[in-house]
Amino acid sequence: MTELLPNYAAGRWQHGTGPGTALRDPVLGTALVRVDAAGLDLAEAFAFARDTGGAALRAATYRERAAMLMAVVKVLQSHRDSYYEIATANAGTVKNDSAVDIDGAIFTLGQYARWGDALGDVRALRDGGAVKLGKETVFQSQHLQVPRQGVALFINAFNFPAWGLWEKAAPALLSGMPVIVKPATATAWLTQRMVQDVVDAGVLPVGALSVIAGSSAGLMDQLQPFDVVSFTGSAETAGVIRGHPAVAQRSVRANIEADSLNSALLLPGEAPGSEAFHLLVREVVREMTVKSGQKCTAIRRILVPAEVYDAAAEAIGAKLAGITVGNPRNDSVRMGSLVSRAQLASAREGLATLLAHATVLYDGRNQPLVDADPAVAACMGPVLLGARDADAAQPVHDVEVFGPVATLLPYRDSAHAIALAQRGQGSLVTSLYGNDEAALAHTALAVAASHGRVHVVTPDVAQAHSGHGNVMPMSQHGGPGRAGGGAELGGLRALDFYHQRSAVQASPAVLAALGVPDLA
Ligand code: NAP
Repeated sequence: MTELLPNYAAGRWQHGTGPGTALRDPVLGTALVRVDAAGLDLAEAFAFARDTGGAALRAATYRERAAMLMAVVKVLQSHRDSYYEIATANAGTVKNDSAVDIDGAIFTLGQYARWGDALGDVRALRDGGAVKLGKETVFQSQHLQVPRQGVALFINAFNFPAWGLWEKAAPALLSGMPVIVKPATATAWLTQRMVQDVVDAGVLPVGALSVIAGSSAGLMDQLQPFDVVSFTGSAETAGVIRGHPAVAQRSVRANIEADSLNSALLLPGEAPGSEAFHLLVREVVREMTVKSGQKCTAIRRILVPAEVYDAAAEAIGAKLAGITVGNPRNDSVRMGSLVSRAQLASAREGLATLLAHATVLYDGRNQPLVDADPAVAACMGPVLLGARDADAAQPVHDVEVFGPVATLLPYRDSAHAIALAQRGQGSLVTSLYGNDEAALAHTALAVAASHGRVHVVTPDVAQAHSGHGNVMPMSQHGGPGRAGGGAELGGLRALDFYHQRSAVQASPAVLAALGVPDLA
C-alpha cells in the first residue's frame, strides 16, 4: 500500500479515514501516494483558519506579511529539487515544463513580497482620494480597502499544482486572509508537499495555510458571508460553484477561472517569409507542446490570412515533427505526458469531436514514444487541425481539447479575424503578430473587450516578450464570459478580491487620522 498523505487542517496534520485515492505516475502507470479527506471535521478546519489564522495575519502589517511571503520563497527554494522529482513522477512533465509550474510559483511569490513591502507598516489601504459630499469640504468620503475577515478557499485545477496554489495564496496572505487549498486530486502531491514544507518551517502563523486533499465534498457548505472562493477548473464544475447556496444566497465572493479557446492572430499582409509569420509559428508550436498543451492559456485557434493558410500549415507541421514525446526522465524528450490516462481519454474524445469539422494537417499521434509504453503512458503526440471554413466549424470555437491540439483557421480580412477571435465567447488571452503598429493597436483595442490579456508580438520584441501563455504576476490573468469572468494577478489589483471596499464619510480630520496609503 502506498503512503497516505495527511491533510493539514485546524492547525494539525490529519489523515482521512477512508481508503484514499491513489495518485499515479502517468508515464509508468505506477501508484505513488494516496490522498483522502474523509472524516475531517470541516467546520472546525474553516473556523480555525478564520479565527486563529486570520486573526494572526490581520494583526500583522502589509510589510510584515510581505516578509512572511519572502520566508515562504526561501523555504520553497530550499526544497526545489524534491518538487521537480514529484512533478516528473506525478505530472509526467519534462524539466522545462515543471519549471513553468514550480519556478513560476516562486517568482510570483517573490513579486508579491516586494510589492507588499512597499505598502509599508499599515493595516488598511486608501482607495482613491477623499471627495467632498456637499458644497463645503467639511464632510468628505474616503474609500478604503480593508482585509476581509474570512477564509479564502482555493479549489484548484490539476495542471498547476504549484503555481495554482501560490499565485492565489500570495495576494491572499498579503491581504491578511488565511487560505485553505483543495488541490485537484490527480496532482495533489506537489501542493500537499509544498504546504507541508512551509508549515514545518513555521514561517506562517498557525492556521494561515491549510491543505485538504481528496474529495471536495462539503467544502463549499462551510463558506460564510465574509469568505471567498477562488476556483480554477472546468466550465462544468464552475457552474456547480456558482450555483452553490454559499455563492448564490450568502454572497460569498467567487472568482472563476474556467476553460478558454485562446487564439493567435497573424495580421493581414504578413507573408510566409516575414518575421511576424515565423514568430507566430514559433509561439504556436511552443504553446501546443509546453506541458503537453495542458495550459489554460494555450493557443487553441490559429487565425491567419487565407492566402497564408497552406504555408502556415506546412511551417507549423514541420516544427511539430521535431518534437520528441515520451518519458520525461529521458533527456532527449521534449514533451512528456498528460497528467493521467483519464485526461488522455478526454483529449482524444475532444479531438474526435473536432475531427468531424476539421482535417488533420499534422498528426503526431502515431510517432513512437521514447522510453514509454503507449498502452500505459498518458502520452500524446501533437496534432494540428485545419478548417478552411472557419465560420462553419463551430466546435473549434467551442470545445477546448486540453492537450497538444490546435486548429488553423483562415480569415478574409481584419474584421473577419477579429470576429473569429471573439467566437471564443470570452478568452483568457489572444496574441497578435505583425509589423504595422497602427494595425496592431487597432486590433488590440478591438479584441480587448473579450480578452483578459492581449499579447502583441512584433519583431522588435522577439527576444523580450514574455510568451503568449506565460502568466506574469504584473498582468491580469482571467477573462470574461467563457473564460469564467475571473481576474487574478495584475500586480496589486489582485488584492481587491481579498479586501472589502468601504467608504468612510467623515470630517477631513477624522479621514486624516485613518493614516492609510493609496492602493496604487
Ligand atoms: P475540474 O474537473 O472542474 O476540477 C477542478 C477542481 O474542482 C478540482 O480540484 C476538483 O477536484 C474540484 N471539483 C470537482 N467537482 C467539484 C464539485 N462538485 N465541487 C467543488 N469542487 C469540485 O477541472 P480539471 O479537469 O481539474 O481542470 C481542467 C480545466 O481547468 C480545463 O478546462 C482548463 O482550461 C481549466 N483551467 C483554467 C485555468 C484558468 O486559470 N483559467 C487554469 C488551469 C486550468 P477533484 O480533482 O478531486 O475532482
